[in-house]
This record gives sequence, structure tokens and C-alpha cells, in this order.
Amino acid sequence: MESHYLTVHELEELLRAGETTSLEITEAMFRRIDAVEERVHSYINLMKERALEAAEASDRRRRDDAALGPLDGVPIALKDLLCTTGTPTTCGSRFLERFVPPYDATAVAKLRAAGAVILGKTNMDEFAMGSSTETSYFGVTRNPWDLERVPGGSSGGSASAVAAGECAASLGSDTGGSIRQPAAFCGIVGLKPTYGRVSRYGLVAFASSLDQIGPLARDVEDCAILLSVIAGHDERDSTSFPAPVPDYRDCVGRSIKGWTVGIPREYFIEGIDPAVTAAVDRAVSVMKDLGAECREISLPHTRYGIAAYYVIAPAEASSNLARYDGIRYGFRSPGERELLDLYRNTRAAAFGSEVKRRIMIGTYALSSGYYEAYYKKASQIRTLMKRDFDKAFASCDVILAPTTPTPPFKLGEKTDDPLQMYLSDVFAAPANLAGIPGISLPCGFTADGLPLGVQLLAGYFEEGKLIQAAAALEKALFTEQRRPAL
Ligand code: GLN
Repeated sequence: MESHYLTVHELEELLRAGETTSLEITEAMFRRIDAVEERVHSYINLMKERALEAAEASDRRRRDDAALGPLDGVPIALKDLLCTTGTPTTCGSRFLERFVPPYDATAVAKLRAAGAVILGKTNMDEFAMGSSTETSYFGVTRNPWDLERVPGGSSGGSASAVAAGECAASLGSDTGGSIRQPAAFCGIVGLKPTYGRVSRYGLVAFASSLDQIGPLARDVEDCAILLSVIAGHDERDSTSFPAPVPDYRDCVGRSIKGWTVGIPREYFIEGIDPAVTAAVDRAVSVMKDLGAECREISLPHTRYGIAAYYVIAPAEASSNLARYDGIRYGFRSPGERELLDLYRNTRAAAFGSEVKRRIMIGTYALSSGYYEAYYKKASQIRTLMKRDFDKAFASCDVILAPTTPTPPFKLGEKTDDPLQMYLSDVFAAPANLAGIPGISLPCGFTADGLPLGVQLLAGYFEEGKLIQAAAALEKALFTEQRRPAL
């Protein structure tokens, strides 16, 4: 049976009804991976043997007990910065090519405990720095909708794997848009939770005050299912929030009649592709048809977002990446006799140029005499942006905006121009700076058949509202089922 494009909840139903087994689904998934992976390259490492064992174990559980959770036996992929025992966690870097973590990330442990079948680790920009998955040491990932285009980044492999039918759903991480932007580029749904909603234990750190783990999936309901499993307090991450986790799935299928939707004027700027504006306009009119009031709002500090993000994220990265010294784990430059040579040559050899650029920018921004001018200023902007959102959510249930300023761009198009690359996060990074949750969902195609995304944002820990609005919008927007012509 061809199950590779089914949603998590469709698989759940088939499994529950006894119409298929996890082993059947998992084997079909690996056949699909064999068929398309050479063209798409979503994965860095597969975990086939362990996946098949997990599928068989799920089938055994099901024979003994019919009441299993929705993820039991369902094949899931993980971005390769989530620690997994038994398989390398490379972060897309030569540095960690052979690094096998001694423990599972909390989100991974929760997936395993829920019975999910982990298929493998997906490709990503090196240390999650990028918007196109082109900075991976393991080669580029291609957009399943057009193999000459990027899948977005940095969770490009997690997004392309879902879009190409190489997993039922996946986990990614979002520091400045890395779940939402690739979801938009690959025509799927991606959710960045509130900072603190999901434990970051075992997530290799990029920018610790911005990083969040979240799901990428074929629809909003699947994102809700995954979020309910991975969310929650964890004593090993002191920034994880000690509040009970709702069953987010309950929010799917509810009306948003009477809701207020804010449309931020600052998100419709010069340079935005007309196809994006047209698709977002359509989403706005659909929201109105659903009985929501759409009202223009202002988030006046939006235009400082990218500048603040590209000071704060590299600053934190430069500090987090200091641990890669060639001594404790990861790559080590061979034959060095002096400590400084060891550091210098190890880091020179094993970091790619984008990572080095971030380390230099970040070190500069934190250095004595410049800290006040850069890092502190950026932190102040961050506070102003938070206040913008607080003010907006005092009168709006959700905010609707484009996810990205353009459709997926060509491979190589922005690799020589980091600023252009950074600008693809212009609508995504503000949510990370403020810490609020956001979701991107498909909202149509360009004339050339490239997917477009629309983004919804909500207040702190309002993932339920986000899912409720996104599910309603998804249902009303849906016109025809398209698949990439792979
Ligand atoms: N593209 C952004 C960057 O390069 C965001 C990355 C992310 O969210 N991990 O930093």
C-alpha cells in the first residue's frame, strides 16, 4: 500500500482499524526514500534497522492493547541537531560528523515514549545558520516542488522529507524562522512554539534565548498532535515552562467566528513578491468569510528586527560554539603540538564559512567597547518589539502575515550575498525575538507551481489559539490536493 503521503492522523486511523501495520508503513517509507532521496537529499543519516525494530515493537504493543497514542507506529524524521543515541548528530557540520551523543534530547525521548518510529536525521544548514540548507557540510537539499530551488532552511531536510513523502512528519528547530520558512517553501505546515514550551535539552544550541523545537507536518492537526507530545516542563531545561500541556488537537475544527485578526502594516513592504501579497490577501478574505474581523495593526519596530536578530543570534552563537575546541568531542586537527595551534587549526578546518562569519560578528558584538553599541542596543530593540506584540495581542486574537517575502529561490541565488539571504527571515525573526509562537501554513502556489505560505502569530503560550485559527484557515483555503511531481 502507498502510504507515504498520508497524514499522521490518517495513519493513526488505519493502524487503529487494523488496516495496516507500522512495519508495513515503515517499510513503504524506506522504499519511498530509496526512490526519491537521490534527487532530494533530505537525510544525512538513516536509522533503518532501529526503525524497523521500533515498528515491530509498536505492532506488538497494538496486538496487546488497542488504546495506543496517535503517534504509535508512525514514522517521524528529526533535524540533525536533536541528540540521538546510537546515531550521529552532525548539525550539518564536519565538526560533528562522527559525534554520537550519549543521550536522547527530551523531545526525542518523548517521541520514542509515544511509540513514534524514528526514520533518520535530516539535512540542515551548518549549526542551523542559514535559510536554504546550502551551508550543510553534507551537500544541499533540493525543493521537492522544483529541484533547482532551495527547500528553505535551516530545517530544509525536515521540510523536504515531509513534502517528498519521506516521513509522515518531522521535528525542526526555529531560531529566526527555520521551521516556518522551509515549511512555506515546501508547501507544508510548520509550527514554532512559544519560547519555553518545548524543552531544549539535547537540542544543540545555536542562540539559546531564541531556539525552539517544533513540528513540520502535512496539516495543522498533525502539528497539534506532535506538539502535545513534545511540549512540557523538563527539569533539565530551566527555561521550559512549568504549565500543563493541553491536548492541542481539541482546538482543531472549532470556529473562529468573532475573532479579531491583526494585519500588521509593516509586513507588507517594498520588495515583497506580488504572488506572496496576492496569496496573503486571499487568506485575509477567507478569514473574513470565516467570521473573523480583520483589522490593520502596527508593529512599529518590525524594521529593526533583522538587524537586532543578526546581532543577538551570532553573539549567542559565538559563545555557544566556543565549546568546539577539538578537545572534548568532535573533530580534532591531527598532529598538533601546541594548544593554540590545536584550537586554531581545528576550528579553521571544521567550521564552514557561514559559521565562521557568525562567530566573528558575534565575538565583535560582545567585545569590550562594542557590547553597549551592539548587543545591548539589540536587546533594547528586542524589548520594544515584545511591547509591540503585547499591545497588538491586547486587541487581537491572532496576527496574520506573510511567512517569507518571496517564493522559494534558486539554488546558488543568494549564496554569495549573505545580506539577501538574511532578509528572507524578515517576517519570521520578530516572533523569535519576542518569544511568541507562530505557524506557517500553505496558502496557494505561484503561476509556476511554487508553494507559498502564510503565517499566523499568537500571544505567549497561545498555541491553542494558533492551532484553532490555522486549522480553520487551512480547511477554508483548501482547494485541490497537489503533490510535487517527483
Ligand atoms: N535563517 C536564520 C539564520 O540564518 C534563522 C536560522 C534558524 O532559525 N535556525 O540565522
